[in-house]
Amino acid sequence: MSSWSPEALVQKSQEAREQAYCPYSKFRVGAAVLASDGTVFTGCNVENACYTAGLCAERTAISKAVSEGHKSFKAIAIASDLEDRFISPCGACRQFMREFGSQWDVYMSKSDGSYKLMTVEELLPCSFGPDDLRANENHSTFDIKP
Ligand SMILES: [Zn+2]
Repeated sequence: MSSWSPEALVQKSQEAREQAYCPYSKFRVGAAVLASDGTVFTGCNVENACYTAGLCAERTAISKAVSEGHKSFKAIAIASDLEDRFISPCGACRQFMREFGSQWDVYMSKSDGSYKLMTVEELLPCSFGPDDLRANENHSTFDIKP
């Protein structure tokens, strides 16, 4: 997807939604993440009989991208079957996105393909990220006395 559009990315997320494995919630979600080189990775929610082991569509898509060597992203689109509201990423997914930067775009769509755009920063203000961990590097572990 060298010349991408939000509409095309939303379309990809809607296609991924078709693969949703959600026998418990019956709440289908799809996501499509656009890597900086133009590659698109899709994901769907994958539920589990042990509920907490389930995975959201956004984290599925991002994990697929990272496992294929991509860590820089331009945008992610999210689709569900909700007709009257834009699908919003859960808190865990916002944090998962933030790991790879806070200045990229999140297209939250309705089932008709219309969307609302927010950045990761807007969805997760005052976030904790990799830079915060590095800020602690000045403190040597040798400073810690038993
Ligand atoms: Zn989530």
